[in-house]
Amino acid sequence: MKTIKEKIKEHALKVNRNPEEIIIVAATKTFGVDTIKEAITCGITDIGENKVQELNEKYPYLKGEVNFHFIGHLQTNKVKYIIDKVKLIHSLDSIKLAGEIDKRAKQKGLIMDCLIEINIGGEESKYGILPEDMNNFVKQMEKYDNIRIKGLMTIAPYIPAEEVRPYFKRMKELFENLKQIKQHNVKARFLSMGMSNDYWVAVEEGANIVRIGTSIFGQRQYKEG
Ligand SMILES: *Cc1c(COP(=O)(O)O)cnc(C)c1O
Repeated sequence: MKTIKEKIKEHALKVNRNPEEIIIVAATKTFGVDTIKEAITCGITDIGENKVQELNEKYPYLKGEVNFHFIGHLQTNKVKYIIDKVKLIHSLDSIKLAGEIDKRAKQKGLIMDCLIEINIGGEESKYGILPEDMNNFVKQMEKYDNIRIKGLMTIAPYIPAEEVRPYFKRMKELFENLKQIKQHNVKARFLSMGMSNDYWVAVEEGANIVRIGTSIFGQRQYKEG
């Protein structure tokens, strides 16, 4: 944990950035409550879950101790289970999902902060809005008063860190474009990119949220079946 923070600091300073502005979201999938509590003791303030059920299982034991983020693909019919538990949804990837988030947020009397997920590599296997469709997508968000667009998220192609750099650069450009958009529910502040294998490149290219699992907790053991 210490080393991750130091590494982020080192890479932030290299490009004249303030390390304090970079939030580490610990990606906690497959790890139990005790492990997460240990990470909190070591200074983790934010965790990201990518499955609704898993988030709900851990939530009662951790609420109030840490900020929950939702970082995985979110099915429309499951929005209601997390809407009042998470601080930020990183994976807004369709109009349909936006409609449901807006509706459920309204019912709870809250405004849900969301990042638009961008499929920066244009990969078939990934969710997210294509870069060229971002502006149009943002415009279509205008009618949703209970959604606040706080920035962008991406999962970069799984290739060596240095080869990912152009994708992160493109994300930074899109983020700067988003900041220029004047729309009542757009308050662009977060650029969520970088995982264990490439987070230092992401930091150098302007990420202010990194989502890190393996480098904090070690390899994940997935249960069979
Ligand atoms: C698991 C996960 C991460 C972290 O991945 P690591 O390679 O373990 O750091 C980041 N983002 C998302 C959306 C994830 O599901």
